[in-house]
Amino acid sequence: MLTDKLPRQSLGFFPTPLHPLARLTEMLGGPQLFIKRDDQTGLALGGNKTRKLEFILADALAQGSDAIVTAGAAQSNHCRQTAAAAARLGLECHLLLGGRAPAQPQGNLLLDRLFGCHIHWTPGHRKGEDLAEVVRYLERAGRKPYVAPYGGSSDLGALAFVAALEELKCQWPDQGGPFTHIVFASSSGGTHAGLMLGARLLELPTKMVGINIDKGAGGERSFAGHILDLAGQAAERLGSPQSFTPEDLILDDDYLGEGYGVVGEAEREAIGVLARTEGILLDPVYTGRAMAGLLALVRSGAFEPSDRVLFWHTGGAPALFAYGDQLALGETPTL
Ligand SMILES: *Cc1c(COP(=O)(O)O)cnc(C)c1O
Repeated sequence: MLTDKLPRQSLGFFPTPLHPLARLTEMLGGPQLFIKRDDQTGLALGGNKTRKLEFILADALAQGSDAIVTAGAAQSNHCRQTAAAAARLGLECHLLLGGRAPAQPQGNLLLDRLFGCHIHWTPGHRKGEDLAEVVRYLERAGRKPYVAPYGGSSDLGALAFVAALEELKCQWPDQGGPFTHIVFASSSGGTHAGLMLGARLLELPTKMVGINIDKGAGGERSFAGHILDLAGQAAERLGSPQSFTPEDLILDDDYLGEGYGVVGEAEREAIGVLARTEGILLDPVYTGRAMAGLLALVRSGAFEPSDRVLFWHTGGAPALFAYGDQLALGETPTL
């Protein structure tokens, strides 16, 4: 494997399943749809951050760190999986969560609490703007803190998705061969950068179609620029320098809706469709929006009937419980 030389700490169960979406394909009248189940990575209800954390926390252990610090939204899947992984490795975990403590923790936040992490509320900030303060505090207390990047999207986090693509490549012969497209939610960029770099290094013809989830993604730098930088940095870490240009990137900004974490009709429909046709749970923030994008692309004729399109399920379903009041799915289907 391309990433064999990097330290990796086992945290999940791999390979995750790959299977067809037969009823959804039939309902839409093609193309052929498949799904990669990173909602089943096995760590604390799963998700794509498990892959990244296997590389990031191996680095933390190699550096002799004893406390992990990271940041995200109150319903961050990255923070939930980091808290679980830290518990598993016997490391202290500090989360900086955007907003204020709700009266009743739900979804990911409820699980964060079960994993025994320290929560620091940062009103108005959900991307680690105040990390340095917590790091200084821990250092003064004699700890060796390690900062896991926002969304696990560092060069190491991206390389986890180079490894993931190699994993997929071993599985696809059983599903009739390679895919023409891989569609996924893109938000802090590590998944996207890793898949793009992996496709380059493995010389795959597959189009990597990221559905942008967060209007503000990328911060000062454009989100596209951030993904291209990450892919370049990850390639360098592998000792295989590559240059990427905007033409290498497919980032679809058409499904941003009312902004990050705001559930609209498109997300509600996508979550309901996948639940009713396949018995699979999507999440309100990422995969619900990415599936809404995929449904819209199929309906607009973006694919040939012969295309083989993979939806990469990146997890997130624990957040469903925190969005219960917004997910009322309209009338119950009748016979
Ligand atoms: C973090 C996350 C993503 C986005 O992955 P990035 O690598 O941050 O772009 C997608 N789906 C879910 C459920 C996530 O938690």
